[in-house]
Amino acid sequence: MSVTVRVPAKVNLQLGVGPLRDDGYHDLVNVFHAVSLFDEVTVAEGPLAVTVEGASIEGVPAGPDNLAARAARLLAEHLGVPPEASIHIRKEIPVAGGMAGGSADAAAALLACAELWNPKLPRQTLMDLGAELGSDVPFALLGGTAVGVGRGEVLTPLPTKGEFAWVFALADGGLSTPAVYAECDRLRAAFEQEAVWPHESPALLAALAGGDAKALGAALSNDLQPAALSLMPALHRTITAGRDFGALGALVSGSGPTCAFLAADAEHAADLAAALGGAGVARAVVRAGGPVPGATVL
Ligand code: ATP
Repeated sequence: MSVTVRVPAKVNLQLGVGPLRDDGYHDLVNVFHAVSLFDEVTVAEGPLAVTVEGASIEGVPAGPDNLAARAARLLAEHLGVPPEASIHIRKEIPVAGGMAGGSADAAAALLACAELWNPKLPRQTLMDLGAELGSDVPFALLGGTAVGVGRGEVLTPLPTKGEFAWVFALADGGLSTPAVYAECDRLRAAFEQEAVWPHESPALLAALAGGDAKALGAALSNDLQPAALSLMPALHRTITAGRDFGALGALVSGSGPTCAFLAADAEHAADLAAALGGAGVARAVVRAGGPVPGATVL
């Protein structure tokens, strides 16, 4: 018997990064939005193993270090069962791209293994185990649009209207999330910028609730963007090109280097994607819609 779970990527519509805490983390206000770029994770009973397929999977560990394998081990420990999970990942979410692909696979593995080992396990238990694996994992289970506070893992779903049309510019190479946070701290210290306590943006919440793409585009923000641009200056050109081609909003997704562009509708997204693709400012350009549901058993 095997179970396949489809799980979406995320883009951060707002990423507010507070001051560095004594424990090395930052307080965050993180508005997550699940978009229709999916990984598929299939788990069959068998010895614990991970295989990965996809167009661009460099850097994804195929062994026990894969986040999906760690998720399977954690759930098996919690349930007191042997970690009998032969895991296959079909990757569409860009690797190390700021779209939480690894976290998505961990969420999918938790759900698939729970289906195999204990289908009655409450979703909340999976959310709690997910938070142990990484702060983006619970959102990959939840999906939709939600705000996370603290380290980003305490989630409240947000009301939205309609579908938003996105274009994503994928970069050559990835950025390490800890390196981008470290660069953010370095830039703040170098320019003596006081990190402010982050708050949810009322303009962003109103735009989401009203389905107003223009207002949403204007309200997008990412406190990690200066750090991502500092580490990968070529992204300046990508962001500027998207703005010049008429994107309603343009920002680095999470810790980058994927750049996200909001379009007015699907037709506008197709035009924007073609223009960005032709401009040679990205390794690849893909379209997606959001919000979409979180990890789902197929
Ligand atoms: P985030 O947006 O959560 O900061 P990201 O999208 O930038 O993350 P990921 O694609 O999640 O980055 O991968 C980060 C690193 O995690 C990879 O470079 C890889 O070494 C490791 N990794 C472990 N398991 C996986 C997995 N299943 N898929 C992708 N990367 C994985």
